[in-house]
Amino acid sequence: MFSKERRISAAEFLLIIVVLLCLFITTSAVSDEGATKESDDTFNYSDTKEDVNDISFYQPSVDTGSFPVIKDSRVKNIIFCIGDGMGLGQVCLACMKGAGIDGKLYMERLPVVGLIRTHSFNRLVTDSAASGTALATGFKTNNGMVGVSPEGKRYLTILEAAKDTGMATGLVVTSTIYHATPACFGAHVGSRKNMAKIAEGLLENKINVMFGGGREQFLPKSDANSKREDERNLIGEAKEAGYSYIQSAEELKSACGPFLLGLFQMKALTTRSPEPSLAELTEKAVEILSKEQKGFFLMVEGSQIDWACHANNAGNAVRQTLLFDEAVKSAVDFALKDKQTIVVVTADHETGGLIVAGKDLQCKELEVKWTSKGHSGLPVPVYAFGPGAEIFGGVYDNTEVPKKFAGLLSIKSFPRMIE
Ligand SMILES: [Zn+2]
Repeated sequence: MFSKERRISAAEFLLIIVVLLCLFITTSAVSDEGATKESDDTFNYSDTKEDVNDISFYQPSVDTGSFPVIKDSRVKNIIFCIGDGMGLGQVCLACMKGAGIDGKLYMERLPVVGLIRTHSFNRLVTDSAASGTALATGFKTNNGMVGVSPEGKRYLTILEAAKDTGMATGLVVTSTIYHATPACFGAHVGSRKNMAKIAEGLLENKINVMFGGGREQFLPKSDANSKREDERNLIGEAKEAGYSYIQSAEELKSACGPFLLGLFQMKALTTRSPEPSLAELTEKAVEILSKEQKGFFLMVEGSQIDWACHANNAGNAVRQTLLFDEAVKSAVDFALKDKQTIVVVTADHETGGLIVAGKDLQCKELEVKWTSKGHSGLPVPVYAFGPGAEIFGGVYDNTEVPKKFAGLLSIKSFPRMIE
């Protein structure tokens, strides 16, 4: 009975082909979704610059103790630091390389630690627009959407809510200023690809300080470098609206507020000298914003950790995370003195499914394993320091973060839609 031959009929053969085809379509859809390719043409994922492994700029913390718990003061200022694509793997790898196995990154010295879930309204694996919207507005939306509901209704952002109370506001990034994460704090568009509209929205919002790249969407179509489809000159419009405009580290030194637009590249920042570093930009933004009487809300993004991880480039992932950690340090340096500033560090999602292994305790020969070229669905860490920081402990959803900020600032009716 085992030797009984059986031929496959033509109908069965057809059925097998159909089933195989269906399986192929399903798996490729899932892997595509898992990859969540960022629709962005402003950078090259495969950054192969030779100095990518040079992390000599980074001065690790000598003290590895936690920063003190600040009690009995109210929150006047918020500095919200987002490492794009920075999961625990990225933090761990950067720490091993930058501070050693028993060392700590500055962000790891923040005394309160939590974990947030990152799924979007329509996907288990989020993109930076949907997670940025969650972190900025307290609502989940579909991947690709910026500061709006899945139906396109505008959600108030925590930056806008802070501004409504008279606080000064700022965005500091290493991507273009209209990239998904900063866009979610100061603009409302159905698609992150609509960068011209995002740039307009950011200006309309009169955010005090905006530092990043992306001049090409601020220049009129007739300019050779422009990527705009119209003749609007947003740099000119910004100046008319009262902004000072700068585009170099030299100009940054002497620049002052209360409105300052700094676009240091046509596209994203190079994150290399002579450009100002993310830490220098953060320091300057804090210097300007802290002059405002009613406090400030500042979002700082290490935008390119994500890009290094999309390229599965471990050296650059470490470099970008350490550059971001330097910015966290300058935020904490201010907060330690000020005592009315809360610093919260988190990520929008993890990128690359990064795993770190190895044998030697000196971390010289680490085994770095990537499980994807896209984002993953892992939760990401939250680190907090300053008055009220304890409410950021625990495991919760990313939409809770801006709600906690609103609570600390006694902002009622948040989250909500605009109008
Ligand atoms: Zn990404």
